[in-house]
Amino acid sequence: MRIGHGYDLHRLEPPPPDGDGRPFILGGLALDHPTGPVGHSDGDALLHAVTDAVLGALGEPDIGRLFPDTDPRHDGEDSRVFLEEATRRMTSRGLAIGNLDATIICEKPRISPHAEAMEQQLADLLGCEVDRINVKGKTHEKVDAVGEGRAIEVHVVVLLEPVTG
Ligand SMILES: [Zn+2]
Repeated sequence: MRIGHGYDLHRLEPPPPDGDGRPFILGGLALDHPTGPVGHSDGDALLHAVTDAVLGALGEPDIGRLFPDTDPRHDGEDSRVFLEEATRRMTSRGLAIGNLDATIICEKPRISPHAEAMEQQLADLLGCEVDRINVKGKTHEKVDAVGEGRAIEVHVVVLLEPVTG
């Protein structure tokens, strides 16, 4: 078995012209929110942290090295592409998801109404049953940048196990 950890943070800003925020997308879901992540790709912090957790478990280069943000091809990229690549590398090593646990930290929007849909999206992308995936949300108690709604943060741990049979 192999364990991996992933972490990501994106600044949240209003859309242009007031800021550089992209549409709010998290776990592949578009949510209605007045601010959105600043990022080179679509800024999906959950998919980035999951991708890094899987790559980390494999001992492979992280998302920033595989998909440099200096590469114009990734401008506004759908982050599912990054996770699909990490999943392909996992599968080619004969490994599958044992379980994955994600904690999303943001003041708004509330995560719990969307957690189940995010779990399903991750299960589909990772090629596993949804009961192996857990997504939960927390606030930052109104303190610091995350608590003031200026950033979103995600922590992920994942366990990979050999495919049996
Ligand atoms: Zn990111």
